[in-house]
Amino acid sequence: MRTISVKEKKSKRSLHGQGVAISQSKRQLQILDETLNYSPAFQDTLKDNGFVNLKPSGLEILQINLGYMCNLTCEHCHVDAGPDRKEKMSREVLEECLRVLDESKAHTVDLTGGAPEMHPDFLWLLEELSHREVKVLVRSNLTILVSSKKYRAYPELMAKYGVTIVASMPCYTPGNVDKQRGDGVFDQSIEALQILNQLGFGRENTELCIHLVYNPLGPSLPGNQSKLEADYKQVLKENFDIEFNDLYCITNLPISRFLNTIYSEGNLEDYMHLLVNSFNPSTVEGLMCRNTLSVRWDGLLYDCDFNQMLEMPIALDSQAIKDFKVQQFSEREVILHQHCYGCTAGAGSSCQGSLS
Ligand code: SF4
Ligand code: SF4
Repeated sequence: MRTISVKEKKSKRSLHGQGVAISQSKRQLQILDETLNYSPAFQDTLKDNGFVNLKPSGLEILQINLGYMCNLTCEHCHVDAGPDRKEKMSREVLEECLRVLDESKAHTVDLTGGAPEMHPDFLWLLEELSHREVKVLVRSNLTILVSSKKYRAYPELMAKYGVTIVASMPCYTPGNVDKQRGDGVFDQSIEALQILNQLGFGRENTELCIHLVYNPLGPSLPGNQSKLEADYKQVLKENFDIEFNDLYCITNLPISRFLNTIYSEGNLEDYMHLLVNSFNPSTVEGLMCRNTLSVRWDGLLYDCDFNQMLEMPIALDSQAIKDFKVQQFSEREVILHQHCYGCTAGAGSSCQGSLS
């Protein structure tokens, strides 16, 4: 049996677990502040392009971050998730999420983490959501679905509940995937995708959808989404008989573990220049913070999952979901900082992929 090196063991811990300073949102915000020495403030760029401020449109997507525990510790993770993270949403907060859902016209619930499947109330929540007319997205890292007997039962249950799976797959080659996500992740992801395909996910003539998510391996922008999707479809079909619906291209935002990597390698300034120089005003209308509410495991509210990780809470008097009234959603302004350039660069980026 292969032994696990000290380096690999260490990499199984989040930055938070290792006590690294940059795992603190305060330190990340300091670093983002430093980028103002060589790049314009994001708010100024918006103003220069005719956007006075960024107002939300209406609440369409409730994104629930169930907690930061994950079986993986991917290099680019904006959550700094890992097996050592213990934060998880209580049943009380989950019930508040259902209340907001029932009081709003949100058409989609987006379950994320960490690995949302690892939350002890995951199946309870799917059952609750199945009684409501909402689309349910589960952001899965795929490997969790083949990691134990318990989780191997989940694909069938997710098919029963008719959820849409949004699965990370940063490349169609093993080397690139394992480099970013850990040894063996590619093979496990392929096995999970084959199981999901057998159940109908991603196959023609079924309503069960699976979308894959691509993000660049380093400090560059994603390529053209449709072209990349065609390449993925061809290679995965030919090599593994795997089918899927859409490919979402997501830009790495300069926060958390990705920030740690590019900052420590001296690439942050170049990356910020790339993002700033690629600012695309046509992406602004579609930014996900305009129609999405992000809920942290403890019930605090944010404009998006990225602001959640930077601990920049929503601009309301009370930032707790227990006090949230749906009409407040459109009454506030979105909180912005330099990381927002990641959402507006090139074709734009959101949890649903490119914006233009
Ligand atoms: S699978 Fe997702 S949540 Fe887990 S470490 Fe990787 S990027 Fe982070
Ligand atoms: S990082 Fe969040 S707040 Fe900033 S533009 Fe992107 S979605 Fe909006």
